[in-house]
Amino acid sequence: MSEPRTVAVIGGGVFGSLAALRLAGQGHHVTVLERNKELLAGASFNNGNRLHLGFHYPRDRATAEQCMRGYRRFREEFADCIVSGFPNGYFIAGEGSAVTPQEYLDFCDAVGLPYRRVEPAHCVPPVTGTSLGLLTDEAVIDCARLRDTLSERLRASSATVRFATDVRTVERHEGRYILGTGDGSVGVFDTVVNCSFSDINRLSRQLGHEAPPRQYEYTAVFVIDWDHPPVGVTVMDGRFTTLLPFGASGRFLLYHVEHSVVERVTAGVAPEHWRDPAQVLGDRTAQERRFGQALAEAVRFIPDLRTARLHDILHGPRVVLAGRDDTDARPSEVSRLGPGYLTVFSGKLDHSVWAADEVVRLVEAP
Ligand SMILES: Cc1cc2nc3c(=O)[nH]c(=O)nc-3n(C[C@H](O)[C@H](O)[C@H](O)COP(=O)(O)OP(=O)(O)OC[C@H]3O[C@@H](n4cnc5c(N)ncnc54)[C@H](O)[C@@H]3O)c2cc1C
Repeated sequence: MSEPRTVAVIGGGVFGSLAALRLAGQGHHVTVLERNKELLAGASFNNGNRLHLGFHYPRDRATAEQCMRGYRRFREEFADCIVSGFPNGYFIAGEGSAVTPQEYLDFCDAVGLPYRRVEPAHCVPPVTGTSLGLLTDEAVIDCARLRDTLSERLRASSATVRFATDVRTVERHEGRYILGTGDGSVGVFDTVVNCSFSDINRLSRQLGHEAPPRQYEYTAVFVIDWDHPPVGVTVMDGRFTTLLPFGASGRFLLYHVEHSVVERVTAGVAPEHWRDPAQVLGDRTAQERRFGQALAEAVRFIPDLRTARLHDILHGPRVVLAGRDDTDARPSEVSRLGPGYLTVFSGKLDHSVWAADEVVRLVEAP
């Protein structure tokens, strides 16, 4: 173990929370700085809640392999937050898919993903308009339970969590980092671990680091009421639909690759107006219209879904690598940009377990 350091972790999502726990476990003096009033108020709650095993990434083997690396450890570490045992199928669309049924089967076999073939029309609910169906053991994450679990573990640890703390400024002075909120000081730290997801570039640039443009997306995942036992249907591979249980809530999440992206921009930093969701999502009528479009597309493949009703919308920013629409790559990267300054760019929730190990290694590396 290295000398204890004072470490600021910016962002209380799953990546920041796990990194903070691991660092505190190593004896470092850790403070998590989160702009919201609770943990997991960003993408770590407002997402599709799939515990990715790799099936979703036939066009990017590296992402699939990162998921396989994280899946089992995440499942073990957060066993109480995992919902599994429901039929969870992947289907290749009959038209417009970026991979053919044979290419998809070859991919699953090559990376060692286990599946059972099913006849889409015989599934419950029946799936139409697809030419291949595979049943998998993939699970979903109950992100509300995950939030409770991480909150309890952080409370029991030596780490401090400061909510309602929006880090607006960072500067380096005499080898240490001074963080501020714009109208006040947050503190001085030996090390900063930037897990702020949509705010990584803005803060890195203040320190003079190169921060490549990213693809910023403001997304909307629809929480629906639908009278059906838990089931997962993912139509691949392109601008299609995903239906999954919403954790253990009894509701479902509906995601559509096109209609769930409200705004998209490739830029150096996230658009400032996204800090006010009302400016992006529009009023209730606009939200219902967007849901109607997503539902109409979903019903093409899952006709029984026509009775679904909108309950709520999970929304917020997502950041992905720019210019990767051809592969849909979603890797996670832990980088040390300068002495004592790390960034954690996240791709999938289950990558957070090995990313936290990597954070500890890089914080303690000479
Ligand atoms: C629509 C959508 C669907 C997705 N589906 C899945 C899926 O099914 N499965 C999967 O594994 N992954 C999915 N992902 C990806 C996954 O959600 C993210 O990779 C992951 O949650 C990011 O975690 P994080 O901790 O890096 O970021 P976040 O959870 O966003 O945490 C960052 C935190 O930093 C805070 N913050 C930001 N800036 C500051 C600042 N300046 N000062 C203080 N605090 C700050 C934010 O409030 C936030 O709480 C999806 C993402 C989206 C958006």
